[in-house]
Amino acid sequence: MSSQIPTRIEAGVVVGFAFTLTVDGEIIDQAESSEPFLYLHGHSNVIPGLEKELAGMKPNESKSFVVQPEDGYGEVDPDSILHLSRTEFPDDIPLEPGLELEMRDEDHEIIYATIVSTTKTMVKLDFNHPLAGKELHFEVTILDLQAASPEELDHGHVHHHAEHNG
Ligand code: ZN
Repeated sequence: MSSQIPTRIEAGVVVGFAFTLTVDGEIIDQAESSEPFLYLHGHSNVIPGLEKELAGMKPNESKSFVVQPEDGYGEVDPDSILHLSRTEFPDDIPLEPGLELEMRDEDHEIIYATIVSTTKTMVKLDFNHPLAGKELHFEVTILDLQAASPEELDHGHVHHHAEHNG
């Protein structure tokens, strides 16, 4: 296998970068340079707009950019806001607006929903991603590029140290 260190971000490169993500003027996520975020480029491990902007960047390069919803977490889908009867929820869940719930869809996949409002009998739930419809303001600094291992390329994601659950 080739262990050459990549000089720019392209498919098959493990990228380590620091970032700040600001939405509606509020920092909602970040990775410091001491603990960079790692991902495998070209395998849809990150949102499309981020992958597009990072492509071609080199170590130590910094950049600020805005990702629109269509390249981020999508637009808000009105069909993903549903009303369910309170009887569909276990008694011990405090059904209050703002509460995020972990649920399972018909394929038993985990999906997330946020309670919008409640009445005596009904619960209004939003199944949209919390960042749907949002402009994502990124500041990034590329720190470290490595060639992915054959196993990482095969799995399509980065392997962290000895831990592996994918
Ligand atoms: Zn894996």
